[in-house]
Amino acid sequence: MIHSEQHRRAYLEALGIDVWVPRGESGGAVESGASAPEAAVTTPAEMDWEVLREAVANCTRCALCETRTQTVFGVGDPDADWMIIGEAPGAEEDRRGEPFVGRAGKLLDEMLRAVGQSRDGAFIANILKCRPPNNRDPKPEESAACRGYLERQIELVDPKIVLAVGRIAAQLLLETDAPVGRLRGSVHRLGDIPLVVTYHPAYLLRSPGQKRKAWDDLNLARRVLRERAA
Ligand code: URA
Repeated sequence: MIHSEQHRRAYLEALGIDVWVPRGESGGAVESGASAPEAAVTTPAEMDWEVLREAVANCTRCALCETRTQTVFGVGDPDADWMIIGEAPGAEEDRRGEPFVGRAGKLLDEMLRAVGQSRDGAFIANILKCRPPNNRDPKPEESAACRGYLERQIELVDPKIVLAVGRIAAQLLLETDAPVGRLRGSVHRLGDIPLVVTYHPAYLLRSPGQKRKAWDDLNLARRVLRERAA
């Protein structure tokens, strides 16, 4: 249900409909056009948590809306200290509407548990809120369309540490082409928030020999968090 003007705008925007609000005295909404007054579209940056969730659920900003079963907003505690950011929903996540619920998700849960962090106590999200067909990499226009949602999630959760899992998340968040092997092992920043990179759990399932490095990464993240909390 759309309750407020903010909800209504978010809903219209999610449907790709611009909302124009007149500044003059003429009153009444007008369509966009050369002489139209300034737009007053609700952007993700202005949304509260529930409006954001609704905007994501109704999003048609890119073609993935045509092939998804449902959007995958993210799961966990919106006040979490740990925010985990992966790439995009896979088949199981698309079916269930929750990130990291397949085999890779189970491993991620174990990795978090090993550093004393429960899945429910973290907030887990992805770069993309919709599944790319056949689990292909996100296209630049898809991650660009989704970026505002993730940025607002990060802003609202305001975690003490971000853990970027896998190449796609790390490269897009840090705006770099560097490989995970070079990005892991040091503390990056997303504005004021420290960010640690580690391997994607799906990769670790294929290359269990790298789990030791992922363990080091999670310990680095835990250390940074403890230092911030001290
Ligand atoms: N891989 C991801 O990056 N995210 C998910 O939600 C599932 C698998």
